[in-house]
Amino acid sequence: MPAPDTTRVQLRSELLRGSNHFMRELLEGNAHGVMPFFCECDHAGCFAPAWLTVAEYDHARVQGTSIFARADALARAL
Ligand SMILES: [Zn+2]
Repeated sequence: MPAPDTTRVQLRSELLRGSNHFMRELLEGNAHGVMPFFCECDHAGCFAPAWLTVAEYDHARVQGTSIFARADALARAL
């Protein structure tokens, strides 16, 4: 039986991914539109925006990786 915190983290992750998927659908046909997706880190209470283009978001989904606000900011600073 998983620990309650594990279940909560998994539920949070699924909710954030679902929300991000919905927002991505709003930009269908606009691959270069930038959108504030939810950071998908496992810190409860983190609702930092991860500013990504649809193409960047799709790339993350194809790779099977989560998106993170901080990583996005660091990547853009390079
Ligand atoms: Zn976060």
